[in-house]
Amino acid sequence: MKEVNDMTQGRVAIFPGSFDPLTNGHLNLIERSSKLFDEVIVLIATNTSKQYLFSLEERRRHVTEAVATFPNVSVDVLNDTLVVHYARSKNVQALIRGVRNTLDFEYEHAIAVANRQQDSTIETVLLYADASYRHLSSSLIKEVARFGGSLDGMVPPTIEVAIKEKIQ
Ligand code: ADP
Repeated sequence: MKEVNDMTQGRVAIFPGSFDPLTNGHLNLIERSSKLFDEVIVLIATNTSKQYLFSLEERRRHVTEAVATFPNVSVDVLNDTLVVHYARSKNVQALIRGVRNTLDFEYEHAIAVANRQQDSTIETVLLYADASYRHLSSSLIKEVARFGGSLDGMVPPTIEVAIKEKIQ
């Protein structure tokens, strides 16, 4: 994994999200984006309309461990600023987001238009969810964990342990 400040010139994308927690669906997008761009920054954001299971620092730790094997991926947190302003400050060309279904499509469309109004130089790149992960969401995972279900194949093993510790 890279440090954000070591970023070299090239095509840089950010993948902003809550990652509460990071799922194997998110990881699949990170891996695929890392092949499309020279550098990818996973940006852990706080969505004001959401209540989180994990703190920003916990989410940062989980994501950092999970992306450690990707040489061109780094992790950062978004503090009191808009994603597009962060993107500008890091010379980012693209925002990566994922689409699982038509609901995601509508939601992502609204975010993409709003971001474009703020800064039309930054493109939103939507990646379709892989068929094996398109049913996965952070909220589904928390629900399964609350009722003692197995999270095998849904999240990285260290995150599965962290969820179970937090919920029990
Ligand atoms: P946010 O609160 O910003 O929506 P999330 O962590 O829920 O943050 O999701 C971040 C991005 O990852 C969103 O674009 C979402 O559509 C996408 N995403 C979430 N789960 C999956 C999945 N299983 N496969 C592909 N993309 C996903």
